[in-house]
Amino acid sequence: MSQPSDIDIARAASKKPIMEIGAGLGVPAESLQPYGHDKAKVSAEFIKGLEDRPDGRLILVTAINPTPAGEGKTTTTVGLGDGLNRIGKKAAICLREPSLGPCFGMKGGAAGGGRAQVVPMEDINLHFTGDFHAITSAHNLLSAMIDNHIYWGNGLGIDQRRIVWRRVLDMNDRALRQVTTSLGGVANGFPAEAGFDITVASEIMAILCLAKDAGDLERRLGDIVVAYTRDKAPITCRDIKADGAMTVLLAQALQPNLVQTLENNPAFIHGGPFANIAHGCNSVMATRTALKLADYVVTEAGFGADLGAEKFFDIKCRKAGLKPAAAVIVATVRALKMNGGVAKADLGVENVAAVEKGCANLARHIENVQGFGIPAIVAINRFYTDTDGELEAVQAQVAALGSEAVVCEHWAKGSEGTEELAKKVMALAESGKADFKPLYPDEMPLFEKIDTICKKIYRAGAAHADKKIRDQLTAWEKEGYGNLPVCMAKTQYSFSTDPNLRGAPEGFEIPVREVRLAAGAGFIVAICGEIMTMPGLPRVPSAESIRMDEEGLVQGLF
Ligand code: ADP
Ligand code: MG
Repeated sequence: MSQPSDIDIARAASKKPIMEIGAGLGVPAESLQPYGHDKAKVSAEFIKGLEDRPDGRLILVTAINPTPAGEGKTTTTVGLGDGLNRIGKKAAICLREPSLGPCFGMKGGAAGGGRAQVVPMEDINLHFTGDFHAITSAHNLLSAMIDNHIYWGNGLGIDQRRIVWRRVLDMNDRALRQVTTSLGGVANGFPAEAGFDITVASEIMAILCLAKDAGDLERRLGDIVVAYTRDKAPITCRDIKADGAMTVLLAQALQPNLVQTLENNPAFIHGGPFANIAHGCNSVMATRTALKLADYVVTEAGFGADLGAEKFFDIKCRKAGLKPAAAVIVATVRALKMNGGVAKADLGVENVAAVEKGCANLARHIENVQGFGIPAIVAINRFYTDTDGELEAVQAQVAALGSEAVVCEHWAKGSEGTEELAKKVMALAESGKADFKPLYPDEMPLFEKIDTICKKIYRAGAAHADKKIRDQLTAWEKEGYGNLPVCMAKTQYSFSTDPNLRGAPEGFEIPVREVRLAAGAGFIVAICGEIMTMPGLPRVPSAESIRMDEEGLVQGLF
């Protein structure tokens, strides 16, 4: 089956003016701040006026442990949103904004694919409405003000060796992971070791995504711990007096962006926190706004359900008071095969036995999601290489677990390919079966929270941490951070910390290498195994094939 490229499909879309999309949701033109004809931000005042309205039903799209190419969560979120609209429901979707790093690196854009995309695809994947620029600027303003404070006498007594606030850039650039700043003499300050993270890994990104309004944003920015004194007392962003100016820089960025799908249905695309160092979901502002305006809101959480769904439930839903009605777990035949032990090079060959074996991974994710009190259904995102035998095998395995798997063809056919899924998701969301409960209570000690996630979600034998790490957690508990949820950072390819350990392993140990306090975002990050906060470009980056053609059209973006 041949299909035009994502960008060709996106370009051929018959977009409606964004004011019309807004009107369909009941947002008056004066409450939309347009960025061109096809993008707009929703005004803060309008959002404030929605507070007393009832919420629609929230549907989470998550996935099994993926292959490196991604298994189609974004594509399925778009497809399901279009499918719900197709069957006559008022539905909106909520997605994260793509980062330039992966766009020019390996994975490509994050605007869906095939006939299930959001448009304008090039804008969304590149500069969009400037939110990432604003976050990068706010982050680096704080970095500059910390160095400046030290330069002018260091009244706060910052220990220069204990500055934990780095700099950010929205690019995969391994050369900047570790750098030396202030070289070149007295006028340039005190030489120090520093480094860059990618913008999506910035705590500001997580803060923007968890903030309820501008006041909450400013308070959270003020709470960021940027450094310590020689006595290890924390210095905050408020101490540096950067919180006000940062809030000003972020004021526009905090407002949710409205765009549309290829089928002219509303899509909020706002915020893009990394799914490893942060919680990996779009902004609370966008989700809440969408819930006030639509009867059904479909949203994606990053990575597989062990990481993404757990953090969506335990961090985003817990903190924002959201109560999801249903979850869709995306599975692909190729990822099931990989979880069943097939090597990457052989994924194109039919292998029913491996698919069946890989279903152990899917089964555990279903069980985990149900453990949060959320009813789950499986969406098989169909690739044209999938055989009927393989698809039937997945359906039979899922049925045996008392759940249901629906074959979806939104990538090839748009909403026509998700009609059945939409009907079933709607029924599930209306069934009243959902009874959301987070995995652990706020009061649980921090290490116990980590251990609980490792045992109950990953099915590890135990979590391990050196005395130094456990002492750090205890110290934070004493400083009043003990009630925070934990943001796990580990590989997305396995329940364990070994990316090659596929399927449904058990009894392994999870080593907690490092813990970090994100006091502004409001979580403790537990880093398990290798994790990257500044990715590098692959040997052949996608950027090599991106260009402008003779007609001035972008080629190679996907
Ligand atoms: P995720 O959100 O899980 O990371 P995406 O939805 O971004 O995954 O999809 C990853 C890539 O796979 C995209 O380039 C998308 O176009 C492609 N893709 C998704 N579903 C299909 C499908 N059914 N057939 C072919 N390509 C697909
Ligand atoms: Mg995605």
